[in-house]
Amino acid sequence: MNTLLLTHPAGLSHDNGPGHPERADRVRVIERILEHERFMTLIRAQAEEGTREQALRVHPESYVQALEQTAPRDGFARLDSDTTMSPGTLDAAFHAIGGACQAVDEVMRRDVDNAFVAMRPPGHHAERATPMGFCFFNNAAVAARHARAVHGAERVAIMDFDVHHGNGTQDIFWSDPNVMYLSTHEMPLYPGTGSTTERGEYNNIVNAPLNAGDAGAQFREAMEVAILPRIEQFRPDLLVISAGFDAHRRDPLANLNLVEADFAWATSKLMDVSDRVCGGRLVSLLEGGYDLDGLARSVAAHVLTLMGA
Ligand SMILES: [Zn+2]
Repeated sequence: MNTLLLTHPAGLSHDNGPGHPERADRVRVIERILEHERFMTLIRAQAEEGTREQALRVHPESYVQALEQTAPRDGFARLDSDTTMSPGTLDAAFHAIGGACQAVDEVMRRDVDNAFVAMRPPGHHAERATPMGFCFFNNAAVAARHARAVHGAERVAIMDFDVHHGNGTQDIFWSDPNVMYLSTHEMPLYPGTGSTTERGEYNNIVNAPLNAGDAGAQFREAMEVAILPRIEQFRPDLLVISAGFDAHRRDPLANLNLVEADFAWATSKLMDVSDRVCGGRLVSLLEGGYDLDGLARSVAAHVLTLMGA
């Protein structure tokens, strides 16, 4: 497989403040582990800076302007109890959406088989007009709308295995029949949404909540029963993964017990379904994951699987 890895130093410049779990070290440990010789055949490139046009396919102009006006010249600007802007936040956020769209371009043009974008801030809690949960722009939503607008994709599926429910992605696509959002997540847990009764206006939202303490067996069953058949039936032209690794058993923010092999298994199953329905077109975007060791090893397992190694 030709797997593209996109990174950019801008991802290091967003700072949530001291002691915050969503920190630059997250992408540092990912970049370090992906330096191993097992990853020598990765195609590496720098994430491009995204554009307002890309952001505006998901977020209203007033929202982008409010973020620009709030961004501090120095110090911090606190948006809510866990979401903070620093002077580097917008540069990071624009490179995160830029990398997501660049990955879509390369995969849709078949220049590469699949792609992993190791950027931050994450995106799946960002709603149309509300930043929250460490998120500013919804990277996966921007990727999906980019595939539709620029590459003529009719349908896009976004599968989110981050331990938290992607309330933002669900909010954005609630009334969009062309995008299916599917999520496994611990419940109850932040942000509180994600029950099976939340199905979207076109039955295009698929939630498969898990219980605290659940491990690989329950996760794999949820994937096989609730998630994979729905992606197959939807027949998307592109599959986007909201790849959060905070369901790892070491993660301090949640209570699921996944291990690296579970992430590799899920990646392989998602590749299989995308092979069957959309020629294997798959773009994976980093979301959460807050134990540095668990995160790095899980990303390594995920990317090795994408590479077909
Ligand atoms: Zn998360």
